[in-house]
Amino acid sequence: MDNLHCPYCGKAIEPTDRDVTRHGDFNFLWHIQCVRKANRPTIIRLEEENVRLRKVLEDLRFIINESHGVVGYHLNGDVATWEEFGYPEEIDEVLTALA
Ligand SMILES: [Zn+2]
Repeated sequence: MDNLHCPYCGKAIEPTDRDVTRHGDFNFLWHIQCVRKANRPTIIRLEEENVRLRKVLEDLRFIINESHGVVGYHLNGDVATWEEFGYPEEIDEVLTALA
């Protein structure tokens, strides 16, 4: 590898800046630590957003636990049960994935 430079810090990529995968060695086109540093603000923002979204889902899960469904949805007097909407399973899957 000759004259390859990290787009984040501008320093040369050394032959030791490699990773090993099950497909074999490959050379990074950048320093992995530079990528992590550059993306840190985005990671922090997404972590904070996940906390807010998790809170909304937990609030919705609480409402579902304390009720049977939606009145007025079917327009014929029948209650639309939460199960008809795929709840609470779908919410629980997301909450589990976020845990
Ligand atoms: Zn770098």
